[in-house]
Amino acid sequence: MNQHSALVDNYRRRFTYLRLSVTDVCNFRCNYCLPDGYLPDDKKSNASSCASSTGFDSLDSSNGFLSLTEIAALVKAFALSGTKKIRLTGGEATLRKDLPDIIRLCKSTPGIEQVALTSNGYRITHQLPELVDAGLDQLNLSADSLNPSTFALITGHDKLREVMAGLDLALGLGLTKVKLNVVLLRENNFDEFADFVEFVRHKPISLRFIELMQTTDNVDFFRRQHVSGQALQTYLEQNDWLQVLAEPNAGPAIEYTHPEYDGKIGLIMPYSKDFCSSCNRLRVSAEGNLHLCLFAEEGISLRPYLLNESASQLAERIQVLLLGKKATHELHEGLTGATKHLAMLGG
Ligand code: SAM
Ligand code: SF4
Repeated sequence: MNQHSALVDNYRRRFTYLRLSVTDVCNFRCNYCLPDGYLPDDKKSNASSCASSTGFDSLDSSNGFLSLTEIAALVKAFALSGTKKIRLTGGEATLRKDLPDIIRLCKSTPGIEQVALTSNGYRITHQLPELVDAGLDQLNLSADSLNPSTFALITGHDKLREVMAGLDLALGLGLTKVKLNVVLLRENNFDEFADFVEFVRHKPISLRFIELMQTTDNVDFFRRQHVSGQALQTYLEQNDWLQVLAEPNAGPAIEYTHPEYDGKIGLIMPYSKDFCSSCNRLRVSAEGNLHLCLFAEEGISLRPYLLNESASQLAERIQVLLLGKKATHELHEGLTGATKHLAMLGG
């Protein structure tokens, strides 16, 4: 099968990075994302009871999510179109019992160079060795506070210690990149900025501060808690942190290093000017809907074609759909598209 030309949109952006959600179910209740916990729509009520009754590792395609065969077809088509990196996300991807198989199939697809996972890390130390064995290259964990009680207040779970142990284990297992996501919250963690910076002094991870994004479900929360990353950027630049050039397939974070720190600091500022001009990622939901933007008006279902079209036909279909991608999101106008919360798509 011939390699297709790379996915390119009308604004000459090239898309080499796929974020694939494998479930929208989550077991956490982050105050900015799922403050009331995961609430299923009708078709997935089974998925919710699975996640809450057994607690972990209970989901698979019988809950309505893409099956291994469907994921294999999707990944093959993206790889054929030049996708090099796949990030598995959710909801909480580690709730899928077949996650090691999903990683293995992504990693063994010709063209895919890096497989990454984003997880809340609630039992990552138990799962990580098997995931790395299956081919996982990179891990992002999330911790919005270094204080256990604030962490529990934000997420609904007293799991900070597990997440921290997960970071160390990931470094010990030799993953090529280990990151920690921190969503900036005016009332909950903005005053911890200096502690977070200090945290990376002896930890060779990349810590990303992410500006809170508005979604359909968090409008009031967003108004209260959104804070710009601009002040942090100024702090870093005035304190000898140096901006580094983005690597190929890297995300939109502006990343800084400092000679006295082992770790890096990244800023993800979706409300800043030109944020979308370097967009290089496409998203597919756990049910197979292609989202051209995190805040697109709708997802476009690829599912009917996954098992009925060749990888080549599917790749052509995706390229045609990509021409509908807009130049920027419309968050500044308060337009959040179809995105109720980021657990729907994985951020
Ligand atoms: N459950 C996993 C986790 O929390 O790491 C993966 C899915 S979560 C949607 C991916 C990332 O998006 C997390 O780091 C989370 O903190 C972040 N996130 C969720 N909602 C957000 C929002 N409204 N604005 C900014 N970041 C958000
Ligand atoms: Fe779950 Fe992640 Fe959303 Fe928190 S941010 S509720 S862990 S999907």
